[in-house]
Amino acid sequence: MSQPPKPEPDPLVIRSLEFIGGMAKPDGWRPPPELPEVAFAGRSNVGKSSLLNRLVHRKKMARVSNTPGRTREINFFKVNDAFMLVDLPGYGYARASKEARASWRPLIESYLKASPELRGIVQLLDARHDPTVDDSQMLDFLAELEIPTVVVLTKIDKLSSRERKERLVHLSATIGLDEEQIVAFSAVTNAGRNELAEAILGLLQQPSWKKPQAAAPGEMKQDDTSPGEATPDETL
Ligand code: GDP
Repeated sequence: MSQPPKPEPDPLVIRSLEFIGGMAKPDGWRPPPELPEVAFAGRSNVGKSSLLNRLVHRKKMARVSNTPGRTREINFFKVNDAFMLVDLPGYGYARASKEARASWRPLIESYLKASPELRGIVQLLDARHDPTVDDSQMLDFLAELEIPTVVVLTKIDKLSSRERKERLVHLSATIGLDEEQIVAFSAVTNAGRNELAEAILGLLQQPSWKKPQAAAPGEMKQDDTSPGEATPDETL
């Protein structure tokens, strides 16, 4: 009798996952930048929560980020006491006010400024659609800052395998990346989860994105009014 195929070894075994807190506003509280960080960006509804849950094999992780009051925050999760996954707020929510739609940029910029340990960004795009104006702005912004970026195409289960190939070719040309730099992912089938885990480990091995900046007077001050730290029961 033939042996059943061995399950693929998991390149990123999650031994511990802890919600550390949220950065709610520019120059607001954030955890001390002591561990390497990888941040996740994408427009609302792109499938970021579903992807994060698959990545860490937890149903509850994204529930923290989706708690009312936390959806517009930058949420920090410590993994294996070794690195930090950073969930950036989803941008470009169609029904949000113009002001709310524009609010991601100062917050994300402030996070980047205060993040000497950031190693890279995982940028999510819906495999079925061309990048939105917000997506293009975000991609341009990341390119401008020269932050190592991995692009993930989400919801590929909604495409046939022929359509998948076509979209991969089309989108890699549109955003100017090699197909090898793009991970095709589905939270429904788990396709691409291990490839994504490997890409994240690759980002974590990058040198720090930038050297710590000497904070100008008044900059990066701790914000006592809305610390957003986790309460003990938020350990996942
Ligand atoms: P977020 O706003 O970016 O965090 O998006 P969510 O993870 O909440 O997903 C938005 C919607 O897309 C939900 O209805 C999900 O069930 C659905 N969704 C997310 N990922 C996938 C996927 O890989 N395949 C399919 N078919 N649906 C998905």
